[in-house]
Amino acid sequence: MSEIHKFLFEGLPVRGVLVRLTDAWTEVLQRRASNKSAGAYPLPVQNMLGEMTAAAVLMQSSIKFNGSLILQIVGDGPVKLAVVEVQPDFGLRATATVIGDVAPDASLSAMVNVNNEGKCAITLDPKNRFPGQQAYQGVVPLFGDAHEKLEKLSDVLAHYMLQSEQLDTTLVLAADDKVATGLLIQRLPLQGVGNLAGSLVSEANEDEIGLNEHYNRIAILASTLKREELLTLDVETILKRLFWEETLVLFEPQAGDAVPHFSCTCSRERVSNMILGLGLEEAQSIIAERGDIEVGCEFCGVLYPFDPVDVAHIFKSSSPLPPASAAVQ
Ligand SMILES: [Zn+2]
Repeated sequence: MSEIHKFLFEGLPVRGVLVRLTDAWTEVLQRRASNKSAGAYPLPVQNMLGEMTAAAVLMQSSIKFNGSLILQIVGDGPVKLAVVEVQPDFGLRATATVIGDVAPDASLSAMVNVNNEGKCAITLDPKNRFPGQQAYQGVVPLFGDAHEKLEKLSDVLAHYMLQSEQLDTTLVLAADDKVATGLLIQRLPLQGVGNLAGSLVSEANEDEIGLNEHYNRIAILASTLKREELLTLDVETILKRLFWEETLVLFEPQAGDAVPHFSCTCSRERVSNMILGLGLEEAQSIIAERGDIEVGCEFCGVLYPFDPVDVAHIFKSSSPLPPASAAVQ
């Protein structure tokens, strides 16, 4: 079973989360492998997507937010797009679009940042949007401060957390064909000053970035964790090995707690809307060519077939669109 473990360092402004995705992750891979047109991922893509999946669960579990968290990399190399979506109940789905060859030992930049145009985006899409409310999106480049190409997803995301949340964060991520796993260590914003001085709190917080000695010590310990250890050891052993000198307060998972699991949010209705978006003319030309329209979900592999009667129904039941909706823009 997939697991999430949250913990605090007693008396220190530092918290941690450790995730181990097993069944939730292998289902992502199995569904992809059984998609005959796409086929299984090349190894480096599999591992990158696994790290992204673990990271998205870590971020969803550490951001107080009721909505879906979408982590995506838009690449300029053979991997055009990699997307992970995690719901507040930790239902998750992930997919990557690969066009062209990926070397068996391809680095992150060789997959998604060949021409320095790769980007990583994190979107927070609220569950119940009020009218006019937009999803929040933050975009980070795949470069470090000295404009060097980043080769670790964990560095890209730590950068994002520092920029957007103003919080020092250390991530260690690893994935193979059985497990997608990660450790997040984060400095907690200073508390206790309360609401008496709102602006002072945030100034004090900014002054602490990179300077909190407790966080720095624990972050260094966390960063000694090796990929192999993260992949093979159980949660208790990892925490003991890294933090045996610290006092940890572990939040035991409660019955009824959300457990990470594979879940796809696709539906026939959504695909209908997509066909509607094509416009009547385009939809009719596909029908004329192939006899029907069949759309497969990239995430779960479910096929949604629409015969000519279904397609006619989609356009009849919608409010009429201008004949060439693309020309309007
Ligand atoms: Zn689906």
